[in-house]
Amino acid sequence: MLIVQKYGGTSVGSIEKLRLVAKRALATQRAGNDVAVVVSAMSGETNRLLALSSEFRDGVDDREVDVIVSTGEQVTAGLLSLAIRKTGGDAKSFLGHQVKILTDSAHAKARIQSIDAAPLKGCFEEGKIAVIAGFQGQDSTGSITTLGRGGSDTTGVAIAAALGADHCEIYTDVDGIYTADPRIVPNARKIARISYEEMLDLASLGARVLQLRAVEFGMNYNVPIHVRSTFSDTEGTWVTHIKEDMEQVVVSGIAAVRDEAKITVRRVPDSPGSAYRLFQSLSDAGIVVDMIIQSQSKDGLTDMSFTVSKLDHKRCIEVLTESCSDLTAAGKAVVSDTPVAKLSVVGVGMRSHSGVAGKMFGILAEAGINLQLISTSEIKISVVVREDVVDDAIRALHEGFGLHLPVEA
Ligand code: ADP
Ligand code: ASP
Ligand code: MG
Repeated sequence: MLIVQKYGGTSVGSIEKLRLVAKRALATQRAGNDVAVVVSAMSGETNRLLALSSEFRDGVDDREVDVIVSTGEQVTAGLLSLAIRKTGGDAKSFLGHQVKILTDSAHAKARIQSIDAAPLKGCFEEGKIAVIAGFQGQDSTGSITTLGRGGSDTTGVAIAAALGADHCEIYTDVDGIYTADPRIVPNARKIARISYEEMLDLASLGARVLQLRAVEFGMNYNVPIHVRSTFSDTEGTWVTHIKEDMEQVVVSGIAAVRDEAKITVRRVPDSPGSAYRLFQSLSDAGIVVDMIIQSQSKDGLTDMSFTVSKLDHKRCIEVLTESCSDLTAAGKAVVSDTPVAKLSVVGVGMRSHSGVAGKMFGILAEAGINLQLISTSEIKISVVVREDVVDDAIRALHEGFGLHLPVEA
């Protein structure tokens, strides 16, 4: 078989752990497989590099920041290759440009466009394990790019797709994908198999165990993803196309995105084009808006509320006051005073079951949690709550939906 293994930051966070990873990769190769290993930076390293960059950064230097933050993975790739040799095997490291991981030019959130797997195949022919630095690529001008936080997952699955690997193993500090973040819900249940579709929603709604684009690659290129622990041999969670033996549950998981801000723009003229002007100006400024709600209009005026990432919060107010002052009566964009979080329940079973929203709102009401915004789609329901109650809300929903209980496959 041809197997791609991706090891996250905590799995390569020390010399001891690198030794363990080297042994694991070598054991996989010795079992008769070709092995490509994708590595993250050692835990804490990307944050350290970002903090260093922020000393000089003025908001327009993303190209240079990528040059800096991509080095974390370079160090791990070299170290792991050495560790594999020391363990009695042979390995060769590759940086993004050495396997032509071509991306667009959106620094800090670049998307992979193509990969040249030939050098990796050459490496297998020489009997070596290929060790690839995750998270990094290069654009058409040769500039180094990075794929966004958690981006090594995407490198892993994209390399697996380019190689036509049998599957991609994502090694991390939990032994699979759970019904909620096990750090918040200690009795969360491990899911044996989950569809790409549900995992896409969980990943986009805050379950950081897999980066969203990694799941997209898996789905588009038909790469089964096995999320499992570096520190045990337990079978983890398989992310695949929908299969018959998948759990028949209505709600499969709960996820949350923290660090959001809610903004309310007061007294916007309730006339055609207002929402377009408002949100177009934010989109022109590169600000992603979520969960929009418009209140009932009174005297031809209406309030609009929406959420943005806390990082975009200041810029959002600036844009609203600069370019939409005529719309925002007296330039008054009002910001919520408390940070908010978006909490979501996800499950393909919702398509055929009604009443999930009602049950969710009932559980949250019982727990005394106020809902600020609500949005629903075919397989998910999201609500915005005060950030300081989000963990309680997750636990209440987990319990209320009985997600800790065993299910029949
Ligand atoms: P790595 O450094 O290996 O990429 P991450 O920190 O990115 O690891 O992802 C693993 C973490 O994801 C876990 O430690 C866990 O706290 C968190 N997580 C969030 N939601 C879930 C979930 N539904 N199932 C498992 N882990 C989750
Ligand atoms: N090192 C990068 C990060 O911390 C990429 C990754 O670990 O997946 O986000
Ligand atoms: Mg990660």
